[in-house]
Amino acid sequence: MTKGSKIRVRFAPSPTGPLHIGAARTALFNYLFAKKHKGDFILRIEDTDKKRSKKEYEENILNSLEWLGLKADEIYKQSQRIKIYAKYLKKLLDSGQAYKKDIIWFKNPNKNIVFYDLIRGRVEFESALFGDFSIAKSLEQPLYNFAAVVDDYEMKISHVIRGEDHISNTPKQILIYKALGLKIPKFAHLPLILGPDKSKLSKRHGAVSVGDYKKQGYLPEAMINFMVLLGWNPGTDKEIFSLKQLIKEFSLGKIQKSGAIFNIDKLDWFNAQHICQMPAGELTNLCTTYLPKSKYSQKDLQKIIKLEQERMKKLSEVGELTEFFFKEPRYKASMLKWQNMKKKEILDSLNKLEQMLSKLKIGDFKKQLLNMKDRGRLLWPLRVALTGREKSPGPFEIAEILGKEKVLERIKHAKKLLR
Ligand code: GLU
Repeated sequence: MTKGSKIRVRFAPSPTGPLHIGAARTALFNYLFAKKHKGDFILRIEDTDKKRSKKEYEENILNSLEWLGLKADEIYKQSQRIKIYAKYLKKLLDSGQAYKKDIIWFKNPNKNIVFYDLIRGRVEFESALFGDFSIAKSLEQPLYNFAAVVDDYEMKISHVIRGEDHISNTPKQILIYKALGLKIPKFAHLPLILGPDKSKLSKRHGAVSVGDYKKQGYLPEAMINFMVLLGWNPGTDKEIFSLKQLIKEFSLGKIQKSGAIFNIDKLDWFNAQHICQMPAGELTNLCTTYLPKSKYSQKDLQKIIKLEQERMKKLSEVGELTEFFFKEPRYKASMLKWQNMKKKEILDSLNKLEQMLSKLKIGDFKKQLLNMKDRGRLLWPLRVALTGREKSPGPFEIAEILGKEKVLERIKHAKKLLR
């Protein structure tokens, strides 16, 4: 990096589909590199392909980046910059370095092109292999390779960081820079993301759009954490990172050349970790959309969420995990049985619980029960009566939130089931 020159990078999606995980990772790496060096992160919507570009996708891209917390310092749209490209196209046509047939072609000087990629090292292309290439359909309709070069120059982009699938465009772009006499930026091509079977990443590996992950109940913090490790290696065992920590620790030098393996289980793991770390109040707010309407106070809702926080892998699971707080549980009578208890003994336990609780406040119920011998014979049937589940948080925490009346009702129901 030359001293004094500001780091400016760009993320340049074409709005021809929703923001995908691969593109989001490119955006993230650009963002981290810019912020690490106190530079600018520019978002450039490459919408010159009028047929394929859609407003809804542009919005999806903007919303997804915002949700991930990747805020752009400047935003441009290529469709609003047509005059600028036309000016540069004319230059090439006037100097004879481009010519018209039905469309505008770049005259290939057929030289070897060498560049130093910040991730891949020396890269050489024999440009004669791809011959003359199209750069615009007309003066008002530039194509990707040309518009990108003009913009990267005009926007003072210092580093072009993009997916490896674009590496074959780089020699063409370098030829255009040279023909126009423009300064060439540095290049860094990110490794491809592959499925666990090393094939091209697809839906069947669980790779979907950022918006879909949001809907499925993943946290942006987890997405960032997951994506950054697709190709970047911190060089330590540390796995959990916040965006802020990543800005400090990120470096292009620690990006691998070989393909990065996408593993959806790892994303689930990161999500669970970040859910666990989240303050309960914040988590409760995020979970509300997944919960049925109820009479619980915000404080009680928070208690419910806190009880399940450690078990939750995705926000969308919260409905099923906490269902017994909102609906009467359905279960088989046989589940009430603790070890080798007989039916009569389970009934005795339930009767005992009922009698005790009817005379006590719900808070004192716990104290009394914990002092008793042979608690398992009481606690197991109680927990099942309250939840209808093999596994759940402890019965006292649940009883406290449900309240005395509901607890008594559920004990009665369990007795009925047994009879
Ligand atoms: N619009 C191109 C894309 O979405 C941008 C490639 C680049 O970063 O130069 O793939």
